Amino acid sequence: MQVSGRTTGCGLVNEHFLNKSISLSGWVHRRRDHGGLIFIDLRDRTGLMQLVFNTELSAQVHERAHKLRSEFVIHVVGTVVERSPETINKDLATGKWELLVQDLEILNVSKPLPFSIETTDNIDEELRLKYRYLDLRRPEMHKNFALRHKIIYAMREFLNKETFYEIETPILTKNTPEGAREFLVPSRIHPGSFYALPQSPQLYKQILMCGGMERYFQVARCFRDEDLRADRQPEFTQLDIEMSFIQEQDIQNLIERLLKYVFETVLNKELHIPFKRLSYDEAFSSYGSDKPDLRYGLKINDLTPVFADTELKFLRDVINRGEKIGGIAVSGHAFTHSELNRWVDKAQKLGAKGLLWIDLESPENISSPVSKFLPKDFFARTANVCEGITNGSVIFIVAGEYEAAWEILGKLRQELARELNIIPQDELNFSWITEFPLLEYDKKDKTWNAKHHPFTSPNQGWESQKLATIKARAYDVVLNGIELGGGSIRIHDRAVQEKVFNVLGLSAEEVESKFGFLLEAQELGFPPHGGIALGLDRFIMLLTNSISIREVIAFPKTASGFDSMMECPTPVEDKKLRDYGLQLTPIKKV
Ligand code: ASP
Repeated sequence: MQVSGRTTGCGLVNEHFLNKSISLSGWVHRRRDHGGLIFIDLRDRTGLMQLVFNTELSAQVHERAHKLRSEFVIHVVGTVVERSPETINKDLATGKWELLVQDLEILNVSKPLPFSIETTDNIDEELRLKYRYLDLRRPEMHKNFALRHKIIYAMREFLNKETFYEIETPILTKNTPEGAREFLVPSRIHPGSFYALPQSPQLYKQILMCGGMERYFQVARCFRDEDLRADRQPEFTQLDIEMSFIQEQDIQNLIERLLKYVFETVLNKELHIPFKRLSYDEAFSSYGSDKPDLRYGLKINDLTPVFADTELKFLRDVINRGEKIGGIAVSGHAFTHSELNRWVDKAQKLGAKGLLWIDLESPENISSPVSKFLPKDFFARTANVCEGITNGSVIFIVAGEYEAAWEILGKLRQELARELNIIPQDELNFSWITEFPLLEYDKKDKTWNAKHHPFTSPNQGWESQKLATIKARAYDVVLNGIELGGGSIRIHDRAVQEKVFNVLGLSAEEVESKFGFLLEAQELGFPPHGGIALGLDRFIMLLTNSISIREVIAFPKTASGFDSMMECPTPVEDKKLRDYGLQLTPIKKV
């Protein structure tokens, strides 16, 4: 029998093929051997089709079919017939038909699998990753990767129409500061020297602008050697974009149209643009986060003025220290006392010293551990600063240093929304967070670091401002509380770049050795430019409703950065190390 070619996919058989002879190839998904009659569900990436083997058609083929086991790979030729009404399977796209098999070829056999591919329940993830090729056979994985392909394809299509060039940049490169540690690759030809794997193509894409390419994009692999958190990968994919002669709005507008195109063409969903824009300061003061989930309210309010004349010593001390009192009002939910106390415990777990609750049952009736210290007009005062206060609203209060207190309130806000079940699950709420601080202070090292990266342009007038207040021409795009990507308008002027390096504490020698080429380029006609990168793995994870980015990456690493299938990283023989002039010394684990 000739295996090459097949008439259609298993899941694509339909009435057009009725009473026709077709061929199919795939894996034995399930088998029911009733002796004279054998049923096989044949699976390929398009779905399932029922095969029937009976002795009347060909005794020889029937004999061979007895040997079939789960996951054998086969090729069959047969006639599509209608199933009898009582055997129609409504849950299956091909459930009205079956294939009466005339010929069967076993293309490969399979031992029993180490786990069932019908469900992931109770299957250890390490095992799934060790046998990733089996895991990938599951229909959900096919759905995820089909969607991933379509999304990336649509992005390419859109950017092509917008006259972008897709350009590859090197993987063996030099450190690009994006705030993480880089992976190093020793050079054999230059012993003692190392390449770094790119944390992103940042400097190359800027240099492409200096090279007059004007509009660049790349589906770029990025590498960051960070201590892995639950849902991080040491290598991940970004849609990386850079444009010349633009302002912030141009990039933001392009990304909005790109996302709209992807949603409409791939997901058949309407997307309303433009997205809401919030400055970093607005986002932080209202939501305690630079990536607020805007699908629900629960805004943080500054209650410091409400307590200006308070008799409560701990709040007076906070005010005297110049710190702040922030509160979230929850309306329309009756909390019991024990629930309220549970929220106190939760806030403490989130890092708060304490959480004060005040139940505004009515203007006359306020219950709280501190109720007797509250002024008579507390209800009215609070209603003045918090939106939507009604009888029965409960206020949760955290006091302390502004940033720390607001960060805790931001996390509390998310937990409250989750537990009170007020997050609209079907909503896609995109927003832009703009005007990020240029710098961030590292209290431990007592240094100022770039919040985005050192090539981000400061806002005009920055030189006369205090370091903590300088804003950057940087923006993030956020979806439902998750940062999808970020970018900035870059520095194209050598003098500005040098000043920023200086603020970051880089010596002239360091600057010259690390970024000499950039400074030189900035003196040789570097156009104004800016860009962005979108994290594709997380985006696709959200759109496929997957629980982890590992479900949308074909060969992800485990939480400890290990490839369980290839079993790497691996030790290297001394002989090989010698080629690189390398010698290992034991590392003390701290
Ligand atoms: N290189 C930046 C990043 O990876 C994105 C950008 O600024 O375009 O986050």
